[in-house]
Amino acid sequence: MIGELPPAHVTHEVLNQAPTLEGYNLFEQDRALVAALEREGALWAHERVTQLGAIAGGEPFRWGVQANAYPPVLRSHDRFGYRIDEVEYHPAWHQLMQLAVEHELHALPWRSPRPGAHVARAALFYILSQAEAGHGCPISMTYSSLPALRVQPDVAAEWEPRLTSTEYDPRMLPAPQKRGALCGMAMTEKQGGSDVRANTTRAAPLGASGPGAEYAITGHKFFCSAPMCDAFLLLAHTPRGLSCFLMPRWLPDGTRNRFHVQRLKDKLGNRSNASSEVEFDGAWARMVGEEGRGVVTIIEMVNHTRLDCVIGAAAGMRQALSQATHHAAYRSAFGKRLIEQPLMQNVLADLCLESEAATVSMMRLARAYDDAAETGERSFPRIATAVIKYWVCKRHPVVVAEALECLGGSGYVEESIMPRLYREAPLNSIWEGSGNVICLDVLRAMGREPDTVEAFFDELGLAAGGDARLDAFVDALRADLQDFSAIETRARRLVERMALALQGALLVRAGDSDVTEAFCASRLAGDHGLAFGTLPAGIDFARIVERARPQLDAA
Ligand SMILES: Cc1cc2nc3c(=O)[nH]c(=O)nc-3n(C[C@H](O)[C@H](O)[C@H](O)COP(=O)(O)OP(=O)(O)OC[C@H]3O[C@@H](n4cnc5c(N)ncnc54)[C@H](O)[C@@H]3O)c2cc1C
Repeated sequence: MIGELPPAHVTHEVLNQAPTLEGYNLFEQDRALVAALEREGALWAHERVTQLGAIAGGEPFRWGVQANAYPPVLRSHDRFGYRIDEVEYHPAWHQLMQLAVEHELHALPWRSPRPGAHVARAALFYILSQAEAGHGCPISMTYSSLPALRVQPDVAAEWEPRLTSTEYDPRMLPAPQKRGALCGMAMTEKQGGSDVRANTTRAAPLGASGPGAEYAITGHKFFCSAPMCDAFLLLAHTPRGLSCFLMPRWLPDGTRNRFHVQRLKDKLGNRSNASSEVEFDGAWARMVGEEGRGVVTIIEMVNHTRLDCVIGAAAGMRQALSQATHHAAYRSAFGKRLIEQPLMQNVLADLCLESEAATVSMMRLARAYDDAAETGERSFPRIATAVIKYWVCKRHPVVVAEALECLGGSGYVEESIMPRLYREAPLNSIWEGSGNVICLDVLRAMGREPDTVEAFFDELGLAAGGDARLDAFVDALRADLQDFSAIETRARRLVERMALALQGALLVRAGDSDVTEAFCASRLAGDHGLAFGTLPAGIDFARIVERARPQLDAA
């Protein structure tokens, strides 16, 4: 006989928790993005970006959880022992991929070239990347492959219709039998990634040699993401030097190519996306572009993936900021909501500046790709891509770490999404030129193509007279760039300041007045500590935060 127990489930009441941030429009609730879409020439895309913004705020977040909780698995052989080299994904991955392809994230500017097409695509990619970043890898590589592929018109004529199809077809079949195809990239080898001249993979002609000809490729690649893509652009040596090739997964006779997946990488983050090590055992490929000019050919692809690294990093920051401001708006401590605590306001406002500066610079950069397509003006994107890629990707992990802390212990817990955002954050800085390599690339552009420096300062000049702190910062930067002593050692500092000048100029011309004031005071005039939350007093922090915070009741 026991005494009467109290009713079940009444040990305590659950109080003081924020509701889940879901069901909101990721576009409409992002004022910096809405303004930039119009400013950078893609107002025509407002409706379609709004539509994806509404979709992305719902189901795709759940797909993101599943696709990362159940990562892809390599099936090297079938049950009879035949080699198949296939990767199996959770259905959620396919749902994300289908959504991205249907919305043309892999192909919009190539399907419908018009002013603002890269800008519109940047906004779409930024929105869906917030729900899940991993699937952005094959989407980005497919988008980026087209400019390189077009260097070889006969190969492009065959592949472009497949790569720009809006039907996602994940079946492992020869590309001619599929409704749509995807393209990857394989450059990095064990002995060298940044320094591709160290590549040892070699190509032997199967008959005639030269652009468009067939070759047998022998060697390996240490990183080859999304190995279920239908084809890959890669580099291999011929007698005339490094050349670019397109290698399909299937041979023209309908049998499998000798593209062997050795294993999948066990990665820090980006777990939904398979990244593999591959071997080519005399695999069939066609040369793209001139023999010996492989780096020049594939760099077209690399430039576009660098733009996507910027978009991916800006998206990661925006989602982390959204989660942090949302949490702080509902959670109370010491008698006030966190969002009303002066020191938390300083932290959140500081994060808002970083996120907004990333968003506006990403959209300006995307417009440079539109301008290049229209007018052939390539000097500004040549240098600005590297400058912005370096800085926005460098800020990404620190922003996410600080945003995570705003949620306290809950931010460290997987269900909050913050750990996934955190693990993802360092990746864009490694991809497509790690930090140092990118800074050295800026020096290379300045040395070999002085027009790029002129174009960069022309852009800064558009904001001249708008803020005395910006003017002084740009003058000092110009003077520093004349000094070539120990230039490699100083490269990070120079590129960082170039990025801050560009972000400052963009904000001075078109930014919100409080955000611009805080940015100029802290980032340009130096009134700032080393951590976030060290903005000078006297700025309307509450307004900056409220402006950036997604409002569930407006959903
Ligand atoms: C998840 C993931 C997926 C990937 N997917 C692909 C893919 O699909 N296809 C592909 O081709 N690659 C892929 N990569 C590889 C990636 O692009 C390379 O890791 C990157 O380019 C760096 O090359 P590395 O790893 O060989 O490093 P290294 O080239 O050895 O560089 C190591 C460090 O040294 C620095 N460094 C290099 N040169 C200099 C210098 N001269 N001065 C100062 N510092 C220098 C670099 O900045 C870097 O910090 C992937 C990587 C990851 C992590």
